[in-house]
Amino acid sequence: MAVRIAVPKETSPGERRVALVPEVVQKLVKDGLTVVIESGAGVSAYYPDEMYTSVGAQVEADHAKVFGGGGIVLKVQPPTAAESAMFAPNTVLVSFMNPTRSLDAIQKLRDQKVTTFAMELLPRITRAQSMDALSSQATVAGYYATLIAASSTAKFLPMLTTAAGTIRPAKVLILGAGVAGLMAIATAKRLGAVVEGYDVRRAAGEQVRSLGAKFLELQINAEGTGGYARELTPEEKALEAKMVGDAVAQADAVITTANVPGRKAPRLISRETVLRMKPGAVVVDLAAESGGNCELTKAGETVVESGVKVLGPLNLPSQLPFHASQMYAKNLQSFLSLLVTKTADLVPTFDDEILAASMLTQGGEVKHAPTRDLLAGGAK
Ligand code: NAD
Repeated sequence: MAVRIAVPKETSPGERRVALVPEVVQKLVKDGLTVVIESGAGVSAYYPDEMYTSVGAQVEADHAKVFGGGGIVLKVQPPTAAESAMFAPNTVLVSFMNPTRSLDAIQKLRDQKVTTFAMELLPRITRAQSMDALSSQATVAGYYATLIAASSTAKFLPMLTTAAGTIRPAKVLILGAGVAGLMAIATAKRLGAVVEGYDVRRAAGEQVRSLGAKFLELQINAEGTGGYARELTPEEKALEAKMVGDAVAQADAVITTANVPGRKAPRLISRETVLRMKPGAVVVDLAAESGGNCELTKAGETVVESGVKVLGPLNLPSQLPFHASQMYAKNLQSFLSLLVTKTADLVPTFDDEILAASMLTQGGEVKHAPTRDLLAGGAK
């Protein structure tokens, strides 16, 4: 029997994305799958129910029934603990899971014998690129961060030659040149700013320069495992603080995106450095959720210090819900190709390398060791 794919309405405050968009539903239905969408699930991303029914989806009004009908449930945000208790045994859940912050839900999913795949755990190998939701959503966040910076500074970004005089281009500095940082650089360049980028991974230098921006280079290379950065030594941190501090003080807008997996975000901008910035300058801190790259950042708030605005926006992909959902849905469609057979059944085993690496819970156990340790630490 064709496997059922269900998409609940997101209930997390401020979340406007939806896990599947009609274009992807149409392809899944064509492949023989049954797709159930909760009524109103796509509305805040501008995909009304009729768009789903017109491509063959069933619309279900009952939230608990969407969760409880078995098959594969697709979500954006981790389910709440209450939602996690609604699953039927052996349901497959694919979602961002934010494992360190969703322990209650994960415990319930374990107890309900749900097979959970967490998008954060997807290995960043070539074969998984089309499923890489961290990258697709970081692309949205980087783009949107530059728009926030542009609309929060007191200045134009481009150079202008007008009858009312010449305007010099703004200086935009991007700290952290991973997926979000590179998109922020590209967007700031398109808006005409003079752009500089900085990262501790030397390989990022070439990518920054290829976007037409200047790369600030520290004489170190902190490339760790899997293409991610490692934490810096105290000596390296002191060198970094000096170089980054001087560059930040010159900038009209700074966008920070630096992260080290599994750790608190590195502190790149101290309060003293903010005090050296020009009045009217802005800092947009994309690492607000993981502790902030700037000492003054308050998650979800704007702090003003000596005329400098420090913004700590949360969940930026949700601010561009139409395309963020479209990209996420394409990632899920690709991930589903590992979970569903040609005859539209669930695969008999989950031993594919990508599935095995991203599996969080299965058969009453937590499969991801760090999360299992965290649960054991809390004696759950
Ligand atoms: P991330 O969100 O973990 O970190 C963002 C950036 O912060 C990284 O570039 C990191 O080097 C940088 N950073 C860490 N500490 C810093 C510090 N003290 N100062 C300045 N910068 C600092 O990373 P991400 O954007 O998810 O991606 C990281 C890497 O993974 C990149 O090399 C990217 O190209 C690679 N990647 C590979 C694939 C793939 O092959 N499928 C997919 C996505 C990303």
